[in-house]
Amino acid sequence: MPEAATTPAPAIVVGGGWAGLAAAVHLTRNKVPVLLLESARQLGGRARSIRFGDGVADNGQHLMIGAYQSLLSLLLELGIDIDKVLRRDPLSLSTFRKGRASLHFHAPRLPAPLHLLAAILLARGPGLRDRLQALRFGRHLKTLRLPADGDISVQALLHSERQTPDMIRRLWEPLCLATLNTPIAEASARIFLRVLRDTFLTMNRHSDLLFSQVELGNLLPVPAAAWLERHGAQVRLGERVTGLKLDRRGNLAVISGHAERAASHIVLATPHVMARRLMSHHRPLKQLCGKLEQLGNEPITTLYLQYPASVCLPQPMIGIEDGLAQWVFDRRVCGQPGLISVVISARGKHDRLDRETLTARIIGELAETFPAWPAPTAQLLVRDKRATFSSRAGVDAVRPGNRTPVEGLWLAGDYTDTGLPATLEGAVRSGVHCATSILESMK
Ligand SMILES: Cc1cc2nc3c(=O)[nH]c(=O)nc-3n(C[C@H](O)[C@H](O)[C@H](O)COP(=O)(O)OP(=O)(O)OC[C@H]3O[C@@H](n4cnc5c(N)ncnc54)[C@H](O)[C@@H]3O)c2cc1C
Repeated sequence: MPEAATTPAPAIVVGGGWAGLAAAVHLTRNKVPVLLLESARQLGGRARSIRFGDGVADNGQHLMIGAYQSLLSLLLELGIDIDKVLRRDPLSLSTFRKGRASLHFHAPRLPAPLHLLAAILLARGPGLRDRLQALRFGRHLKTLRLPADGDISVQALLHSERQTPDMIRRLWEPLCLATLNTPIAEASARIFLRVLRDTFLTMNRHSDLLFSQVELGNLLPVPAAAWLERHGAQVRLGERVTGLKLDRRGNLAVISGHAERAASHIVLATPHVMARRLMSHHRPLKQLCGKLEQLGNEPITTLYLQYPASVCLPQPMIGIEDGLAQWVFDRRVCGQPGLISVVISARGKHDRLDRETLTARIIGELAETFPAWPAPTAQLLVRDKRATFSSRAGVDAVRPGNRTPVEGLWLAGDYTDTGLPATLEGAVRSGVHCATSILESMK
C-alpha cells in the first residue's frame, strides 16, 4: 500500500506583532505554509488596540513618517487604501512653553534636503545664531562620518557640531527622545544620523508626518490576519510558546502547552527578552543570548484624556517644552474628537511619580497651555516599561541578524540589526528581511 501523503511541516512564526505579521505575509505570498502562534488574544503586539471605557485607544500613541517605506509597501501589498487609513501632513512641529508658542518648524514642499535647510532657517523661536549653527549641521548631514567601529552619544555629536544649548533643548533633544526613545546623553549618534538621513536627505515626502486615521489594530493586524487566512496561512491566538526543540539532526519544533508542533523553520518574532528566554537552554545559542541580554529596555508612558468633543489642538500634534508631557496628540484625526493623548518617552523623573500625581501634573500642564479647556471626563494611563530596546551608543554591536547559529531558527523584531531605532518600520523591515533570508535558504 502507498504511504499516506504527509503534509509538510509549516514555517512557524512565534509572535503576531508587526514583525511577525510582515514575515508571515511575505512567506505566505511565496507559497510557504505558515502557522502563526500569538500568546495574546489579539494581534499587534506593542502596536495594538486596547480598551478605553466603552471605546478603544492604542497601547501607546504611535506616529509614523513618510520614510516608513517597508511599512507602506506592506499596507499596499495587503490591498489597503493608504490615503484612507493614514493622514499625511508635511513636517510641521510646534512647541509650547509655559503656555506660550515657543518654536515653529515647518518643512516647505521643496526638494530634499532644501526643505530641511529652509525649515531650519525659517524656524520661528530660536535666534539667528542657533539657526545658523543648525543649518551648518544640516549641511554636514550627508558627509558626516563617525569612526567605522565606534559610536558616540547624540549629545556628544551635537556638541562636536557646535549646536547651541537652546537648539539642543528645543529641537534636537525632543527629536532624539521621540525617535530613539533614549536620553540624549546615552542615545546612539549612529542611529540618530541614520534617522535624520532617511527622513531628510532622500525625498521631501519622507519627512511627512503620517497619522493613523484608524485604531492601530485596524491599521495592520486585522487586515493582515484576514489576508493570511484568505491565502491559506493559519493564525492561532492565545497560544503561548514555552519551549523550542532543536535537535542535532535539524528537526525543529515549538512547544506550547502540551502540544509539540514540528516546523520547517521557526521565526521567533517575540520581543528580545522572550526570544532570549526561549533560546537560553540551547548551548549553540548561548553567545547570541548574551548579546540580547545587553540590549536593555526603555519605557514609554501614554496618558489618554477624554475632554468634551469641542476640545482640539491647533494641529494634530504639538510639543510641550520643559514639562513632564513631551508630545500631545489630537485623536480627532482617528475619529475620536475630544480624546487627547500625551506621550512621555524614555526614563525620567515622571517614573518616580505615582499614577494619580503624574496624571494630575500632566492635566495641569495642559491647562496651563490651553486655559480654556474644561477638566477631562475620563483618563487612562498606560506605562509600558519595556516599550523599546535602548538605542544607546554602541548598541548596534549587540543587535543580532535574522539568522541564528541553529539552521532553520530565525529572529525577527524591531531589535534586530536594521540600523533603525525600535519603530514600526524597523519591525516590518526585520520581518520582511527575515522571510527573504528564509526563502533564499530554501533555494
Ligand atoms: C508605547 C509605545 C509607543 C510607541 N510609539 C511608536 C511610534 O510612535 N512610532 C513607531 O514607529 N514605533 C513606536 N513604538 C515602537 C513599535 O510599537 C515597536 O517597535 C513595534 O511594535 C515592535 O514590533 P515587533 O513585532 O518587533 O514586537 P512586538 O510588537 O513586541 O510583537 C511581539 C509579539 O510576540 C508575542 N509573544 C511574546 N511572547 C510570545 C510567546 N512566548 N509565544 C507566542 N507569542 C509571543 C507578543 O504578544 C507580541 O504580540 C512604540 C512602542 C510603544 C510600546
